[in-house]
Formats: sequence, structure tokens, C-alpha cells
Amino acid sequence: MTDSLSYARRLMSQLRENQPTFSELLHMQLESGALDDIPAFLKRRSLSSPIIVADANTFEAAGTRLMDALVDEGLEPNLCIIQPDTIGNVVADAESILQLLIEVKPERTGCLIAVGSGTIHDITRFAAHRSGKPFISVPTAPSVDGFTSAGAPIVVRGVKETFQASAPIALFADLDILVKAPQLLVAAGFGDMLGKYTSLLDWRFSSHTAREPYDEQVAGITQRALESCVQHVEDIGKRTETGIQILMTALIESGIAMLLFGQSHPASGAEHHLSHYWEMAYLQKGRKALLHGAKVGVASSEISQLYHDAAERGEYPYAEPQDWKQHRQQVQEWLRQVPSREAMASLLRQAGGPANLRDLGVDEELFAQSLREAHALRNRHTILKALNEDNH
Ligand SMILES: [Zn+2]
Repeated sequence: MTDSLSYARRLMSQLRENQPTFSELLHMQLESGALDDIPAFLKRRSLSSPIIVADANTFEAAGTRLMDALVDEGLEPNLCIIQPDTIGNVVADAESILQLLIEVKPERTGCLIAVGSGTIHDITRFAAHRSGKPFISVPTAPSVDGFTSAGAPIVVRGVKETFQASAPIALFADLDILVKAPQLLVAAGFGDMLGKYTSLLDWRFSSHTAREPYDEQVAGITQRALESCVQHVEDIGKRTETGIQILMTALIESGIAMLLFGQSHPASGAEHHLSHYWEMAYLQKGRKALLHGAKVGVASSEISQLYHDAAERGEYPYAEPQDWKQHRQQVQEWLRQVPSREAMASLLRQAGGPANLRDLGVDEELFAQSLREAHALRNRHTILKALNEDNH
């Protein structure tokens, strides 16, 4: 375990060298009992009167214990339980952000502590950034790779957009809490990682065909994180301590790869664009949200099928016709590293999550629509975009 942590720390020191503006040192702990070290950390940094941000579930899973520990140490914590909307979704939207900002006291609040899921983190990182307070990450489930992200996807008047916010100054991932996370959240984290098969392929493709920036070292970090999850899918499916630790490490590494690169390319390709498209459709119809990683995992398996089929038919577009033969070979070589839809579905099933569109509940009509339109959500030259726009 310390091996993987020291690896993550090495990455962080590299991040500071590349980006001198990243002056705050990200303190990271991934181990049993990590939660108990938070009061001492706050005292060392002179951060009293923190606000614990949680929802009802994550408060029960970890917030109440942290609250007690902070009270015992005289740190005078405040609590903000983010309320769900009328259909039971906890959403990173204007109402949730306002609910939190009302609790922030400019003179008194030392920091904000996100205790919970990716959504709780997005609400907290945005409010922390805009109120000029540091924020601390306490994930309660290994469910997404965005805990250390600097961008916050926020729903503004029904449309989700990503805004600049801040990365946490510290991350306390307590294995005792993470192993008790519901299986569907664990499987979602695995799905978010499985999505790297297609995000890495799209990234390489876009750097070749549209000269989008690319970094081999960053791609390597993400690739290795993905492979370690796939190798340990059985442990992850059984939620053993090893499995959960490997998954959480991979999610943190994927998040750090994005921080290193400064953009989401390593971790987000066409599979994420489909997921965002479905998410917006659900929002607009007032349907209960699906887990991000659950959507990404299934979307990635479908995108894999689409890409393999297109390659078989020789349909890939070629940016520079004189190199088309070489380019075609290169894309096929990358594509060989992406498992088939069936292989990915089987991995998703082993992790204990939805394995296909039917399991997930996304209907054929929405799926077909997203294949035609989702690429337009982001300005990225993915293979999905090329298939839609370049092949007339
Ligand atoms: Zn993701």
C-alpha cells in the first residue's frame, strides 16, 4: 500500500515542478483509520471551524464519526447536509451551492471538508474556490476518479457545465469506510476506470488527426492504473481490502494524471461524452440520475463495439491522405488493446455493476441519439466525432 502511495506522491512532486502555481502540497492518506488523522492535520495547518459537507448517507457512513472527532479536539466544526431535490437526487446545482455558501463565515470558517461522493466533492470544491477557503477530500466510496480534480461540473439552469474550482489540499481515504461502500458505487468506480480503454484510444487518435496535445508519460500513468484494476477485478467485485485499495489508488492516479496534464483528455473520451449526454437527458426529463461510472463503463463497451465495427469496415477517416496506410495500421494497433464489448461487459459484471444498456436502463432511442449527437458536447476530435463528421 505504501508503494502505491509513494508512487502517487512522486507524481505530485512532479506536478509541482511542472506547475509552480500549484503551491499547496496535496497531503494524501489511503489507509485504514485515515479519518482519525484529520484533526491533527487541521491543527497543524491552523484550520479551525471547518464545515463538514455531506449528504444523509455519507454523513452516516463517515461524517458523524468525523464530526465527533473534531468536536473532541475542540475544532468547533459546523455541518452542512446537502438536501436532495424533489426526486431524491443530490445535485451539484445552484441550490446546493447556495445551501453551502450560506454556512461559510468569511472570518471564521477555516476550510470545507467534502465527506462523500463525487457530487458532494463538486459542490464543495466550487464553494471552496469561490469563497477562497481550502477544501479537504474525504471520499466515502471508490466511485469516481474526480476527487482530486480542479474542475467542478455544475448544473446551471438545467445544463451541466464544468467550471474552474480548486483541487483539495488533502485527501483522507479511509479503507475502513471505503470497504463498506455499496457494491454499486464500487462497480461504478471500476466502470469509470474501464472507460480509460476508449478515452486513451480517443486521445491518441485526436493527437494524430487533430494535433491535440498528448503526453506519453501521463497516458502511461492512466494505462497502468487501468490495467491494475482489470487484473484485480475479482477482488474489486468481492470488495476485499486489497481490491478496494487497488481501485481507490487507480482512481486517485487517474485524477492526478488529469492534474498533471491540465485537461481531461487522459480520462475522458467518447464514452464520457455519451455519459454526459445521457445525464443531461435524464436531468431534462426529471428522471433519477444514474451513477457516473456505471454509465461510463457501459458507454465504453458500446463505443468499443462501434470502433471495432468501423475499423472492420475500413471506415476510419484519415486526416492526411498521404499517410493513410500508416495511420490506419496505427489505429488498428491501438484498437487491438481495447477489449470487445462482450469482454468489457464480463468485467463490469464481475465488478458487480450493470454490464449493458438494458441493465443500466438507457433505452435504444436515447442511445442511438447520443451516438449521433454526443460528440458535439465537447470540442475534441474523438473517433466518434470523426465517424460522424468526416465520413460523408
Ligand atoms: Zn469519469
